[in-house]
Amino acid sequence: MNKYYDDWHATTLDTVILSCEKADNGYWITTEESNFYVKGGGMDSDKGTLNGFEVLDVRMTSDGHIAHLIQEPQTGNAHLEVDLYDREMRCEIHSAQHLVCGYINKKYHAKTIAFFNDDTEEGAEMGFTDLNEEILAEIENTCNAYIAEDLPLEILYPTREEAMRYAPEEKLEHDELRAVKIGDIDYNMCACVHVPSLRYLGMVKMTHFEKTTRGYKIFFVCGKQLNNLFERQNRLLRNLGKHFSTHPLEIDKSVTHLEEENRAHLSQIKHLEEEKCDHLADKYLRDPRGIIAEEFVNLDNAVFSKLAAILTSGGKTVLFLSREGKGARFIFAKPKDAPADLTGILKKVKEITEVRGGGAPFRMQGSIPSCPDNVIALLKEFED
Ligand SMILES: [Zn+2]
Repeated sequence: MNKYYDDWHATTLDTVILSCEKADNGYWITTEESNFYVKGGGMDSDKGTLNGFEVLDVRMTSDGHIAHLIQEPQTGNAHLEVDLYDREMRCEIHSAQHLVCGYINKKYHAKTIAFFNDDTEEGAEMGFTDLNEEILAEIENTCNAYIAEDLPLEILYPTREEAMRYAPEEKLEHDELRAVKIGDIDYNMCACVHVPSLRYLGMVKMTHFEKTTRGYKIFFVCGKQLNNLFERQNRLLRNLGKHFSTHPLEIDKSVTHLEEENRAHLSQIKHLEEEKCDHLADKYLRDPRGIIAEEFVNLDNAVFSKLAAILTSGGKTVLFLSREGKGARFIFAKPKDAPADLTGILKKVKEITEVRGGGAPFRMQGSIPSCPDNVIALLKEFED
């Protein structure tokens, strides 16, 4: 057991370098002692520096020392400095998991299935058969009452017999046992770093929960993480409030209003597109050409298909392009008994540019990723 993990503020240490080993991405510096936490038990590795160089990774060596990855080779003495803010935040998150899960185990007899945490929040998957907002609020209130009591997180080194009174047999298969105890709420075998007492968590805020196949995931924040999340969300809401010229807590009304306006605009656009389609259909049905080659720009997809369908049922053969940026969509269509050889025409187009798509001999459609200007001129040659 690493005694430095008993004190969350044991963040500086002077020690001796045992070896310096070249790696692909730097040098692994193994030291006699180390206060750096190595990822495990749901807690990430510490960040910090060795002789002023950023520690990029840490690992346990086979003989139980800790190796630190840095960019430069080092020999002699090592001055280790763990990033205190980052250490405190991870200790708060981990310790809050002890508190919340310990309380849920005790009060609701729901066992802990898994822990998780990321940049913004933390949580645990718990073996609840049922969970609701009321229970979540009760957990939050009681945990915050424990925080107000400032119960200590005691680090114990029990004998196997002592530990057996609280912990299951399978968790006791280690040479040296280390336990964390919070009043009568939690007693757990754990080798991580913890806050000394609950007041350092500030408060625990439950955010939401999700049903899983094994129980429920509950999400919460505490301490610095709570502060950071509030800061980020508050800034976001204030910016959005400025955007909508409204109070941050009234943004949902503005969004609903915007959605309604958007729906009205979309329906107006659809109506106009339909009018446009009817107008174009009318124009081309009166056109003396039997085979019509035309190039449009950004014609709505539905209008494009509908127009081709109306014209073919009116007896016309169409060779249509609709340009979009440097590419184009195409539809070649004809009445089934019309003479035009659409397969042959598409083959000609393929001779001058890349074409995607195809179809039946009387209706072909697809896209031309990069459509040269001479495609429409080529199609015009087949007009009749
Ligand atoms: Zn722990």
